[in-house]
Amino acid sequence: MASAADVIVVGGGVIGSAIAYYLSQEGTKVALVERGDVASGTSSACDGNILVIDKMPGYDSQLALKSQELLAELVESLDYDLEYAQRGSVLVVEDEKQAQVARDWFTRQKDAGLPMRYLEGKEVFEDEPLLAHDMVGLVECASDASLNPMAFVYGLISGARRAGAMIHPFTEVTGFLQDSTGVVRGVETTHGTISADKVVLAAGVWTPGLAATVGVNVPIKPRKGHILVAERSPHPARRKVQEFGYLLAKFGGTEGRSVEPDMDRYGVAMVFEPTEHGNFLIGSSREFVGFDQRCNHHVLELMARRALRFFPTIRDIRVIRTYAGLRPYTPDHLPIVSPVPTVPGLYIAAGHEGDGIGLAPITGRLIAQMIVGEPTAVATEPLRIDRFVNKEHKGE
Ligand SMILES: Cc1cc2nc3c(=O)[nH]c(=O)nc-3n(C[C@H](O)[C@H](O)[C@H](O)COP(=O)(O)OP(=O)(O)OC[C@H]3O[C@@H](n4cnc5c(N)ncnc54)[C@H](O)[C@@H]3O)c2cc1C
Repeated sequence: MASAADVIVVGGGVIGSAIAYYLSQEGTKVALVERGDVASGTSSACDGNILVIDKMPGYDSQLALKSQELLAELVESLDYDLEYAQRGSVLVVEDEKQAQVARDWFTRQKDAGLPMRYLEGKEVFEDEPLLAHDMVGLVECASDASLNPMAFVYGLISGARRAGAMIHPFTEVTGFLQDSTGVVRGVETTHGTISADKVVLAAGVWTPGLAATVGVNVPIKPRKGHILVAERSPHPARRKVQEFGYLLAKFGGTEGRSVEPDMDRYGVAMVFEPTEHGNFLIGSSREFVGFDQRCNHHVLELMARRALRFFPTIRDIRVIRTYAGLRPYTPDHLPIVSPVPTVPGLYIAAGHEGDGIGLAPITGRLIAQMIVGEPTAVATEPLRIDRFVNKEHKGE
């Protein structure tokens, strides 16, 4: 195969698919190259939450809010059942000490215009009656939603295909083509070369390896997370519920949460997600163990125990499946959505950690706008790759 496109997208996860979709809507001739099947990486080993509630107040939460707006448009335009449901979500507050931190968090998000409420006392149980009865508060975000992440990728891919994008599954990118001045001219793949003047690297946790072949250092590390899938059963809550301590596990810090040492060690924090099919998912864990995606039964047991702390009534519901995926972690918790200044024609869209499903619409839109030369929907300075230059990042 030797072919040509305007833009090549490397990676058929949710990020690459969203980029291919938005670019193809602009009339750009896109080739998406994926070494496995589409959605065979992290985008099929995750939950499907589209959240603002778990973002840092400020740029992070505004980016997520913008992405939620774009997703609502995609639900209408994709002509694919994404199993989308906008039920809102809540963070559950475990005790009075944590409530002080949670109220401050809530106030900052509400002052920034996010659709949030703080519930306490008996309101908590009127809202979610099956929560453990010693819970003291709930932070609610009304705009939060969920969907099936694989259906989302398939919907984006079929929308891109309808607009003329060429999708090449089971084709691995092995290197970049560059001219004598270093400008990108395409990619080499296991099935031949594809030429294009722009290449977008959207290979999730595998981005650093490919970027290194053109001398670009990308500080993304795989951060493993586990999921338990429960059998179909009455749901213990009507929407997405996370413990407030999830924010501490995600962003670091232990103040305001007292859990057994191994729960801290593996970043275990309760996340409950109902699905449209009557099952529910239980997360979460966070650890740096390279590319090892095997389930660790000790971590799964810790997660199940943590879930029982918040929902004692799920004790007899069976777990039917478990899996683990690799979040593409960056040291400052923001993704990289950026041209690469040292390699003209190359762009990177990766590093969305635990937020890539929710941030896919805004990422796809931003890269498309950068490439076609339109003003971007939000400022992109905080997402540039060169924010890491000359900084030493040691991980967590
Ligand atoms: C347990 C868990 C729960 C999560 N829950 C949520 C959630 O509720 N909400 C949310 O927003 N996010 C969530 N996330 C995060 C989200 O899943 C990721 O941020 C997102 O899937 C990353 O998408 P991606 O397209 O960057 O990466 P991927 O989906 O991994 O896609 C990258 C693709 O690149 C391909 N590739 C790699 N190398 C090459 C090559 N050389 N040539 C061609 N193709 C290549 C891979 O095969 C892969 O398909 C969760 C993650 C985990 C692990």
